[in-house]
Amino acid sequence: MDKNRLSVIIPMYNEEESIEVLFDRLFPVLEGLNMPFEVVCINDGSRDRTLEILERELKRRPGLVVVNLARNFGQHAAVMAGFSEAQGDWIITMDADLQNPPEEIPKLVKEFKKGHDLIGTIREGRQDTYFRRLASRITNRIVARISGISLHDFGCMLRGYSREVVEGILSNPEYRTFIPALATFFARNPVEIYVRHEERAAGQSKYSLLRLFSLQLDLMTGFSMWPLRILFFVGTFMAFGGLLAAAVIVGLRIYYGAGWAAEGVFTLFAALFFLVGCQFFALGLLGEYIGRIFQAVRKRPTFILEWVKGREKGERKVLMRLP
Ligand code: UDP
Ligand code: MG
Repeated sequence: MDKNRLSVIIPMYNEEESIEVLFDRLFPVLEGLNMPFEVVCINDGSRDRTLEILERELKRRPGLVVVNLARNFGQHAAVMAGFSEAQGDWIITMDADLQNPPEEIPKLVKEFKKGHDLIGTIREGRQDTYFRRLASRITNRIVARISGISLHDFGCMLRGYSREVVEGILSNPEYRTFIPALATFFARNPVEIYVRHEERAAGQSKYSLLRLFSLQLDLMTGFSMWPLRILFFVGTFMAFGGLLAAAVIVGLRIYYGAGWAAEGVFTLFAALFFLVGCQFFALGLLGEYIGRIFQAVRKRPTFILEWVKGREKGERKVLMRLP
């Protein structure tokens, strides 16, 4: 028996149709690993029977831990809640909808055994619509460029994290965060492997296009100040351009006389160019400071825990816990 313990973290939002199928496939895989394990399911404010089913499963699945959040906080916040409850040395996150086949878990465990502390995954034969795939390819590339984090596939949540990496992530609570990207910051020996990807077993995707976009925005603004910097660069460029245009107009006015400059109209333009340029410059500068404040101030709690069940010590009512 391996002495390392494994935690599998599964965020769940309205997954009533998937849970049983998922557990029927997941638990045999974990039992076959011959190591202590726990499955931490986070109910992320589901409005269907997810919680009811989870509580029922608690009675017949040893190793199951149920974490109930006070309301819907989003997938990444739910995973954070899972991290804070997980007790394993190796921690694996996955989706509830069976798009990440549980049968791939032994592959990740193998990488842990090789000493890797962060296991990224690339979806093989991705089962999403062409449009989703194209969109995510483009965003993966842009995000990699902007944030300076090179991951081939940000979207796949079947990932492995060592205890140290998880502690690092937990010590850095951010209100809106993107875990796969944040994890690269704490990893010493990361690796990326290919895993299978399947169609959603049941129910619907919880991500609308708008939510996907906002996730990408989190990723961009959370890890880079580029969008704000662009304002600053454009501002500086405009200010210099304006100054130059003004100088040219004033020069031509002196050379050709007041008639050429439409009796002062052009001079007015010159002043305007310059002032508009200055304004952009000032805006950009403000943006830079706001960005810094924004970075410093982002210390809000990621989630609010209501209770945890399934631990040997008995049930725990937490109501409010700030990371
Ligand atoms: N999820 C969650 N909270 C949310 C949205 C999603 O916990 O607000 C969970 C969901 O139950 C699933 C995982 O995150 O286990 C991925 O969601 P989904 O399959 O809808 O995303 P997609 O595969 O379409 O990207
Ligand atoms: Mg899915």
